[in-house]
Amino acid sequence: MARHLITSAIPYINGIKHLGNLVGSQLPADLYARYLRSRGHEVLFLCATDEHGTPAELAAAKTGEPVADYCARMYGIQAELAQGFRLSFDHFGRSSSPQNHRLTQHFAGQLDAAGLIAEVPERQVYSHADARFLPDRYVEGTCPNCGYDKARGDQCENCTKQLDPTDLIDPRSAISGSTDLEIRETTHLHLRQSALKDRLLQWIDSKTDWPILTTSIARKWLLDGDGLQDRGITRDLDWGVPVRKGDQPWPGMEGKVFYVWFDAPIEYIACAKEWTDAQGRPDADWERWWRTDHGAHDVRYTQFMGKDNVPFHTLSFPVTIMGSGEDWKLVDYIKSFNYLNYDGGQFSTSQGRGVFMDQALSILPADTWRWWLLSHAPESSDSEFTWENFQASVNKDLADVLGNFVSRITKFCRSKFGEQVPDGGEWDEREGLLLADLATRLRAYETAMDAIEVRKAAEALRSIWVLGNEYLQSAAPWTTFKADPAQAAMQTRLGLNLIRLYAVLSRPFIPDAAQEMMDALGCTDWSWPDDLEAALRTLAPGHAFTVPEVTFRKITDEERADWQSRFAGVRT
Ligand SMILES: [Zn+2]
Repeated sequence: MARHLITSAIPYINGIKHLGNLVGSQLPADLYARYLRSRGHEVLFLCATDEHGTPAELAAAKTGEPVADYCARMYGIQAELAQGFRLSFDHFGRSSSPQNHRLTQHFAGQLDAAGLIAEVPERQVYSHADARFLPDRYVEGTCPNCGYDKARGDQCENCTKQLDPTDLIDPRSAISGSTDLEIRETTHLHLRQSALKDRLLQWIDSKTDWPILTTSIARKWLLDGDGLQDRGITRDLDWGVPVRKGDQPWPGMEGKVFYVWFDAPIEYIACAKEWTDAQGRPDADWERWWRTDHGAHDVRYTQFMGKDNVPFHTLSFPVTIMGSGEDWKLVDYIKSFNYLNYDGGQFSTSQGRGVFMDQALSILPADTWRWWLLSHAPESSDSEFTWENFQASVNKDLADVLGNFVSRITKFCRSKFGEQVPDGGEWDEREGLLLADLATRLRAYETAMDAIEVRKAAEALRSIWVLGNEYLQSAAPWTTFKADPAQAAMQTRLGLNLIRLYAVLSRPFIPDAAQEMMDALGCTDWSWPDDLEAALRTLAPGHAFTVPEVTFRKITDEERADWQSRFAGVRT
């Protein structure tokens, strides 16, 4: 038994996430957490909402709520959807928690003491009407290059020219529209990432088992051009973690908060404290996961994220950890994902294009989505959701293969032997061959899951389901029954035990269906089939069961066509 700390990239608070977001971090992280728990390991699986920053402020302004209320409400919605998709977090935290405020301030103080924070004067646009400094992208005006009148202070959307806010003609605030702006000098804190460049490079180079997707992105940021740049970690906002040096004020930083990208990954740690605080447990209980000097030396820490998040997790956050001079746990393995595209284009939150988490659950059970998304996870390259592929995969894998097997064997048993596991007969050559085939594919499944190769694992699981159908087809207990009822009883008994095996192995992918299968079998033994032959004899003669309801229904052509048009959004 080992100890595994797992975190998923934390979703931003301003709205409901689409299925591409889900499959890029939270869902595969949940698969891995569930698998490791099934194998008997000790797991701490954490996620949270990422709540600070200007987008949250603006989203709240749009709905007319105070930003804290807006975030609390959206947190509730995201937590409920996570539950709907059966994401088995040990704790779903919030980056706005008091725990994260304190820990972020603590890290800043440590980094400053280590000489890794610089105070840098900057010139920035101040809006009198908004009574605040404006981030570059919240200054709008006319592009000096092409004349487009809605160019942003960082870039013109029309001609793609990179801009400074001071380049804009007739600049105005994107928040209020006010033109009463001035350039003011202000001081910001920079994290001196460049000082740790060699140490980071050495660390990345030592990670020979990491996916190329992960290390190549990190090396590019470390080495391309002028190399790793220092990074501003403060902003002039109200909503965020106030800049303090540990528990002391930071002279000159009054009214400023830490940049959301500084405090968000620290929430991975603070989330663990939220978890124990919520249960009234001592700090030692979370520190044994996060402090190598307090028992975390034997923890294996795995992070899940989309490829766009890799730079922050391979560079910025490790700088925070390494630079603190304290014994915090560094990540051991980063599993990153490419993008899932939607039906010939991209998922688009702003255009409502694609399927969002709440919509998905309103039309089909979570397991259906979990199975398709995980079995098509964008691992080695981007992958694409199409309704045709979704319908075909779900109908074939879940309904025709797994669902059909469960239904046939339980109904046949009920009709010939009643609703209990039948007695009689002995395993024969056919059963020996099945056992050998199952053992091979089970090893392939375990190997893929241990390596977090999600698609390969799904493929191996599917092939294990297929073996059951092939066995049933060739053993044909409905024919055997006429000449040799005892033999048919043995075959049926094996079939019922296969259902239990399938429930155990499938639970990380399709937890609800696995539970239904176990409930129908009247069984609570979820033990992993380390001894496969013994596992196939778990349900003994005389054990009562019930025929389950249809576990998976098929998606009709009419439904497919209806959903295809409903979720098309506006094409680009
Ligand atoms: Zn332009």
